[in-house]
Amino acid sequence: YHAKNLGKNTWQVYNSQVQKRKTDLKTESHLYKALANREFFLVYQPQFEKDSSHLIGIEALLRWRNKDLGLVSPSEFITIAEETGLIVPIGEWAIREACQQAKAWQDEGYPPVKISVNLSMRQFYHNDLVEMVAQILQETGLPAKYLELEITESMAIHAEEATDILNRLSGLGVKISIDDFGTGYSSLSYLKRFPIHQLKIDKSFIKDIGVDRENNDIITTIISLADSLNLEVIAEGVETASQLDFLRRNGCDKYQGYYFAKPMKPEQIVSHFNPKLFHK
Ligand code: C2E
Ligand code: MG
Ligand code: MG
Ligand code: MG
Repeated sequence: YHAKNLGKNTWQVYNSQVQKRKTDLKTESHLYKALANREFFLVYQPQFEKDSSHLIGIEALLRWRNKDLGLVSPSEFITIAEETGLIVPIGEWAIREACQQAKAWQDEGYPPVKISVNLSMRQFYHNDLVEMVAQILQETGLPAKYLELEITESMAIHAEEATDILNRLSGLGVKISIDDFGTGYSSLSYLKRFPIHQLKIDKSFIKDIGVDRENNDIITTIISLADSLNLEVIAEGVETASQLDFLRRNGCDKYQGYYFAKPMKPEQIVSHFNPKLFHK
């Protein structure tokens, strides 16, 4: 059995894995310096109820611009940040920045809306999470009810510890939303123990609306699950009028997606605040 007998395909797979490893190492070495060099920024995507005149929340999404790598998307660096543990300080920066921005909008007289920030696994189980969040709220002056943290189903893996963390977060007044709902492989039993307030239907289901009946049935099942557990439900990744129409007809009335607005710079998003409620 000689190497030359391995198909060209095998070689290509091996070669592309080596390439990927090189890119990852380059990303990793730049990532260590990125916070100190102030290379991160947040973009903000509005969430609406019923139509685009009812802003109900804003999701903060992390962006990284490096002079050698250019703009790097979260899908390319969050995993590396997780593996290296860098997600802990980077994530802390993101929560603080989002809270400061939300408070600044309130101080400028815009009607208060909640700001959502994503948490990854390593951040969620980090010892200092609850104290860190409490500290940021105190430091920025943002009332806790305007902060929402997005976790994923996979974080239910250590059920008891997760329940304790979530109880303490919710004790601060912070809201918890389950992101990418429907894609995790965990059992649903955590839904009755965790103090959560919202399910966010994963965008892969929204993308396939109308493609097959099973997909549509999953969505309507999530909506009725949320309804019977007294949870809010929001759809992410809404891109078309027909997707929106399907969601509306089936009782989901909170939406986020390109159909309404893309993630944008803070100075652009203020045009979405309801002008009638402007009180300054
Ligand atoms: P996510 O939290 O599920 O965020 C939704 C993703 O969908 C975002 O990608 C958003 O830009 C994108 N999106 C929004 N509307 C649409 C749409 O209509 N169609 C499509 N196809 N996509 C849409 P993004 O910004 O690249 O973020 C990817 C993931 O990275 C996030 O998924 C989240 O898991 C993670 N992430 C982003 N920011 C942070 C952060 O500050 N901390 C942590 N720990 N993770 C973050
Ligand atoms: Mg999210
Ligand atoms: Mg999501
Ligand atoms: Mg996601």
